[in-house]
Formats: sequence, structure tokens, C-alpha cells
Amino acid sequence: MDKILYRSTNRKSKLVSFKEALLQGQAPDYGLYVPIKIPKISKEELESFRNKKYADIAYIVVKKFLQDEINDKDLRKLTKESYNFDVPIERIEKNLFLMRLDRGPTASFKDFAARLMARLMHYFAKKENKKLIVLVSTSGDTGGAVADAFFGLKEVNVVILFPKNGVSEMQRKQMTTLGKNVRAFAVNGAFDDCQAIVKQAFNDKDLKNLNLTSANSINFGRLLPQAVYYFYAYSRLGKDKIIFSVPSGNFGNLMGGLIAKKMGLPVEKFITAVNENDEFPKFLKTGKYKPVEPSKKCSSNSMNIGHPSNLVRLVDLYGGWLYDKRDKSGKVIKKGLLKVKPNMKKLRKDIASFSITDKEVNEAIKRVYLKYKKLLEPHGAVGWCALERYIKNNKAYLVVSLETADPAKFPNEIKKVLGVEPKIPKSLAGLRKKEEHFEVIDKNYETLKKELLR
Ligand SMILES: *Cc1c(COP(=O)(O)O)cnc(C)c1O
Repeated sequence: MDKILYRSTNRKSKLVSFKEALLQGQAPDYGLYVPIKIPKISKEELESFRNKKYADIAYIVVKKFLQDEINDKDLRKLTKESYNFDVPIERIEKNLFLMRLDRGPTASFKDFAARLMARLMHYFAKKENKKLIVLVSTSGDTGGAVADAFFGLKEVNVVILFPKNGVSEMQRKQMTTLGKNVRAFAVNGAFDDCQAIVKQAFNDKDLKNLNLTSANSINFGRLLPQAVYYFYAYSRLGKDKIIFSVPSGNFGNLMGGLIAKKMGLPVEKFITAVNENDEFPKFLKTGKYKPVEPSKKCSSNSMNIGHPSNLVRLVDLYGGWLYDKRDKSGKVIKKGLLKVKPNMKKLRKDIASFSITDKEVNEAIKRVYLKYKKLLEPHGAVGWCALERYIKNNKAYLVVSLETADPAKFPNEIKKVLGVEPKIPKSLAGLRKKEEHFEVIDKNYETLKKELLR
């Protein structure tokens, strides 16, 4: 087996191992790491998944990328610890399914990636006797999932940046009530501001000795675990090619699926479901890419992203080259330039994309609740609406829509639409009463830098 190395989408940085890509987060040339080739899953392996548990499927998929960088026993242990919760696949109608990715400890699908990534980072850091600072910007759910996944580890400190007025109360409390090795900063600005500040920190030479790494989906270690639930869906649902509807923000969720497809998973199509931040469906249609600036505020707040960071990887996967233009100091002066256009024909064959308004989201939450007695929250509703729109005009064999959060994380939105409050799962109970600790900072990098150097 040839060793799988990782290259930067900007093609200047040297090739690195999985471990280095994981611990660095972003490549020094500001590109994102991608594997030089994507390993295959054989038909026999795919068949064997049918009677395997989630954790065992995760082990097989992830092992293909890590190869001998970790021994079998350790990886088995880490996947088993990571995936100790249910992944229900609910039938809504004959060939329409909802896969619930919201049963992890922080009630969002971010747990799938955060839990394994945290364990892998900890594993490699400990082996090298390194202390890490995990720096993460969040539009809502990443912060909580990452905080939970790293909480209490001695070798790792976590620093979270979130937009002060951009997250729900539940989401905020998941990040601000833990304390210990988890510090949270509320930024006077939008998610894109948080993301920009974090990216600048990664490329600041003054911070070299801090061993900063990213827990955002710019980190390949965050993407890889997200390929697994697509395999899991196939293992439970049978032989037809599946159409997946994927609620998308930074496109980590979608990239996980595209990697699974490249590995050999029979997928008919991915429906990329976005809220009113519609830069991607427009790009798919016209071939011209223009970020939405500033990003629009929609009820699916974790998807309020006007320039998805993983679009760089997606374009790369289809033979193109997307990058942000920077000045000498590394500051972005123009976002989202296409140096090489991807194969649009192939892209359109694999992916359909729809932008869904908040009004449509509310109607869908109501419709699905009344018709099927199922409760969706805003992100899952964006996915469901996109699914409905797709099957109106296309043949649909087997469609799986992803529900990415528990409705209880958005009690106000649900109450506004349905007049009832969602039931609170065990994982979220008690959160309301806990004491919060966080600092408010302006949206400039220097403030964060001072805090990190302290
Ligand atoms: C993060 C998130 C998304 C979007 O996922 P991306 O990987 O950023 O595309 C969708 N739904 C919820 C609930 C999320 O937290």
C-alpha cells in the first residue's frame, strides 16, 4: 500500500502525514490539506458493513487514511469511545428517510467529527509530549461539540470564538459553562469575522511556539469522520444508489459525503441545501463564484456562511483551484478567486443545490410536524425543503435527508412556529441553570493575540 500523504490546495507547502495535517490544521501556504489520493472501499467491504456497528464501520473507513500512523488496537479503542450513541434512520415516507445525527452529547452532528478528532489529536500530542492549543471559531454548534470533546484533557487547551449575537442561548451555554481548559470569547461581529481572526492566528509567526491547531473543518481530521455516516446509511438501507440531502454551511458535512463517494460509496446525488446564503447554488448554475458579504442571518444559524471554507477542497476535488488573495502580511484582500475552473459538468452531475428561505423553513417545520408527526429544527428543515424541491422534478429512488441538530437546541424558533416547546434530551437538561464564563472582544485580531500570548 502506498502511503497516503496530504498536500495543500495552494500547492506550495510540502507534503505531510495525516498526523502533521491534523496537528497543523491549515497548511503554511494558507491552503487546506487534502489527501494526494483517495483510498477505495471494495464491494466486499461495503457488503460487510451491513452487519457491523457504527464504530466498526468508522474504524475501517478511517484506517484507510491513517494507515500505519496509528496501531489497530488504539484506533479501535478511539472509534469505540467516540461513537457510543445512537444513529437512528427514520422512515418518513416509502423511500424518504431522515437520518438523525443529533444524538451525541451536544445534540448536533458536530459530535461525530469533534469526538474522534479530539481523541486523535490527544493521541498524537501525547505521543510527542506536546501541549496543544485548539483554536476554534463557531457559528453555533462546533464550539460546544469541540469543548465537550476536549473537556478536562491536561495536554490540550481550547479557545473558542463565537459571534456575540449569532448563537442561540443553548449553543452559547454549551461553550461557556464548562470552564477548566475551555475558554470562550464572544466577538462583536459575525461568524465570518471570527473565522478570519482565527485564520490570521494560525499564520502568525509570533505564535509559533504555542502549537496552535484548528478544530474547524479546515482541519482534515474533522472532515474524515464525517465520511462515515454516509457509509452507515447505505449499510442500513439497502442496494439502491442513495440521494443525500445535506444541510450545508462551511461544507464540511458535504465534503465528508464527497469523500465517501470517491471511496466507492454508491451515491446518486448530493443535494447541497443552503439557507439564504446562496453563493453556492449560484456558482453551480453560472460557474461564477461570488461570496455573500456580509453573510445573511437566518434561523439556521450554524449555516450563516457567505464563503464556505471547504469550497476550496470541493473545487480542488473537481480539478479546479479556488483561493483567497492575500497581501504580504497574510491579510485577505480578495476572497474566493478561481484560478482554475473546476469541471462544472461533473460537478452538476454529482451535486444539485437549492437555497431555502426562512419562510420556507418555518412552513416545512409545520408541514412535517402535522403530516408525519416529526419535529425538524431549522437546519434539518433546510435539508428537507431542498429534498422536496429536488424530488418534484427528478426521479428519486432512495433519499436520505440529514437532521443535524436536536430541535431542543432551538426552542424559541420551534415555539414561534408550532406553539409548543420541544422536549429537552438528557444531554441538554440542566444547562440552563449553569453559570457562564466568557469575555467579550472586538473583531480585531490583536486582542485575541494578546490573550493567547498571556
Ligand atoms: C455546522 C452545522 C451545519 C453545517 O455543516 P457544515 O459542515 O458547516 O456544512 C448544519 N447543521 C447544523 C446543526 C450545524 O451545526
